Amino acid sequence: MNPILNRFLSYVTVDTQSDPHSASTPSTEKQWILANKLVEELKEIGLSDVEIDENAYIMATLPSNSPNSNIPVIGFIAHFDTSPDFSGTNVSPQIIENYDGKDIVLNKEQHIILSPDYFDDLLQYKGQTIITTDGTTLLGADDKAGITEIVSAMEYLINHPEIQHGTIKIGFTPDEEIGRGAHKFDVEKFGADWAYTMDGSQVGELEYENFNAASAKISISGKSVHPGYAKGKMINAISIANEFMSLLPEDEVPQKTTGREGFFHVHHISGEIEKATIELIIRDHDKELFEERKKLISTIKNQLTFTHGECINIEVKDQYFNMKEKVTPVYHIVETAKEAMESLNITPIIKPIRGGTDGSQLSFMGLPCPNIFAGGHNFHGKYEYVPLESIESAIQVIVKICELTAKKSK
Ligand SMILES: [Zn+2]
Repeated sequence: MNPILNRFLSYVTVDTQSDPHSASTPSTEKQWILANKLVEELKEIGLSDVEIDENAYIMATLPSNSPNSNIPVIGFIAHFDTSPDFSGTNVSPQIIENYDGKDIVLNKEQHIILSPDYFDDLLQYKGQTIITTDGTTLLGADDKAGITEIVSAMEYLINHPEIQHGTIKIGFTPDEEIGRGAHKFDVEKFGADWAYTMDGSQVGELEYENFNAASAKISISGKSVHPGYAKGKMINAISIANEFMSLLPEDEVPQKTTGREGFFHVHHISGEIEKATIELIIRDHDKELFEERKKLISTIKNQLTFTHGECINIEVKDQYFNMKEKVTPVYHIVETAKEAMESLNITPIIKPIRGGTDGSQLSFMGLPCPNIFAGGHNFHGKYEYVPLESIESAIQVIVKICELTAKKSK
């Protein structure tokens, strides 16, 4: 079997689902199983300083093989947990060789079909080897494709000493899917000048812009009085919650926005007469518009306080920021990735992420960190798939970035 396919399968068949309800790191004990296996493998292929810390963060080094000591130290990062949104137990991948562009039956009994009629991205992979699920789990290409690519690229560089490169650092993290992948990442110990997460989707993706993100919780307290005698006395928290939501711009919601357009997204409400709560998230690529959005929450509160009296409490919390702010000053790191792709005849697809990545947090922790494609599609569900050729392309991109970074520093 193809050794890269073999490696990928050896990772996805280990269940590493993370759990947002757990406070520990890693959030699930089972993530240790793959983490420990990866440590052994990194040692086997010949990397140096292979270490795993008490939170299961893995780091390793490929030492420079160049006489030039000025080459910047670069890093590659991926996460080994999979999404809590869908089962990662007993992943049993199917391999479709020489894909013919037709429907792929994932599960005959349950009539689960991966069809290009609905997922038209599939058609660009005609003739390639597609790895899918059996329809009962996710695949875990997010982000075990990324892990496969980084390990395989390091192995390739070790076996091809004629390719000159500087010091390369690699980092594998738990719990990215629950937003904590970067939390306990020791940027100083990692010691890279910049890094790339291998965690994007289709071939060519290169991302260095993401949302600025905040969450808001609006708590409204009311006053319950018998409805028959309520005139001028009752304060209905549900009605005030309704008023609050009606004052948010109705077209600035996820289902009506795209590209760099920001939004308010109410994702939870609960209420009775005495108490109502609205939970929402605020997203915008533009820092100023982001601040204005947060301000609007206070403005609405003040307006309603004027009408109903002091009954609303708001809590707005920043979650993460647009990495563009940290990457633009070192834009050459995006250029290098772009050049690497172009030299391999891969068309770079540079677009803003409508979400966040570990790289956005890492960028603000001092490690500028754009995101590169890992090759998979339809993450976090049973229709997830990855073409083997996309994994191979990502491996070449990593190798090329290492090579170009060395060449450019001469
Ligand atoms: Zn991911």
